[in-house]
Amino acid sequence: MDDFEFFEDDAESVKAAALTQQSLVDTQNQLGAMLDVMPIGLLIHTEQGVLFANKEACRLLTVTKREILGHHLLDYIRSADIEKISQQLRSSFLGEGKTFEQESTLQRPDGSQRLVKLISGRLPWDGNPVIQLLFQDITDQRRAEFSMRQLTITDELTGAYNRRHANYEAALYICADAATRLPLSVIMVDIDHFKRVNDTYGHPVGDIALKHLTRLAHDFVPTIEGTDSALFARMGGEEFIILLPGVEIAAAGTVAERFRRAVQNMSIALLDGELKFTISLGVASYRDADCTFDGLLGRADAALYDAKAGGRNLVRLAG
Ligand code: GH3
Ligand code: MG
Ligand code: MG
Repeated sequence: MDDFEFFEDDAESVKAAALTQQSLVDTQNQLGAMLDVMPIGLLIHTEQGVLFANKEACRLLTVTKREILGHHLLDYIRSADIEKISQQLRSSFLGEGKTFEQESTLQRPDGSQRLVKLISGRLPWDGNPVIQLLFQDITDQRRAEFSMRQLTITDELTGAYNRRHANYEAALYICADAATRLPLSVIMVDIDHFKRVNDTYGHPVGDIALKHLTRLAHDFVPTIEGTDSALFARMGGEEFIILLPGVEIAAAGTVAERFRRAVQNMSIALLDGELKFTISLGVASYRDADCTFDGLLGRADAALYDAKAGGRNLVRLAG
């Protein structure tokens, strides 16, 4: 009887253990399925390599679950980002309870790239340290933000920066502390007899001329020495500026003369001939008495007026 009871108990506990085992397997399967429908990539990673990848991680990395096992996250990171991501992984393996977040570019086996936000943190498991890595693909979002920003800072016709952006950039220098402020020069550019271009060839050809001038300026600006933040902006109509942070007036005058000659040598092919034009330029450098960017532009404009009065196709410096 006792033996029988013991047998009964034993059968019960075997059944219970089997149920527990089954529910663990079920839970594991359910968890796996749950992680696979997550719209965010997940890797479980040891210091040696990947232990687990969900479907989205595999999709983002363009690998199968089988292919990624044993690989290391760094195998899929663009070489320029490897140092910063290695540092993030080191911090994650050490820092229990903390999460780390950075943007990085994935370099995928097929050669394509995606920009991701990479969030990592150590899992509270004993033994060999294990981290989880979450990836969110932000490529499209970043592209949309970039085009939106481009729209707000550029001129639609020419693609040059617009007046609003020039004002914003100039204010960064003008508002700086006077003791540490960099010099700021501006070259104001105005096309000579532009009305004649429109009258002779028509408004669409006038537009083409404005675009060619901008293209020339975009090639020219990176060649300017002594500054890496010069910019070319359309202030309105056929008036443009070259903003020269860090450049004194004499050097700005030399830049203006080089640009004048480049425009003079430019020739635009038309269906029935070629179009050439010249520009006049007024150069000024910021002084405290200018007070604002408009004050500085006013003096550059006065110098430009001198260039027009002097016969055009000339550079004049503000006094
Ligand atoms: P100056 O040498 O004294 O500068 O003479 P100008 O003819 O260039 O000067 P004016 O200010 O009399 O004429 C500017 C012309 O620029 C008039 C205007 O129709 C033209 N213009 C302004 N914006 C545009 C544009 O977006 N496209 C075209 N095609 N023409 C434009
Ligand atoms: Mg004008
Ligand atoms: Mg003009």
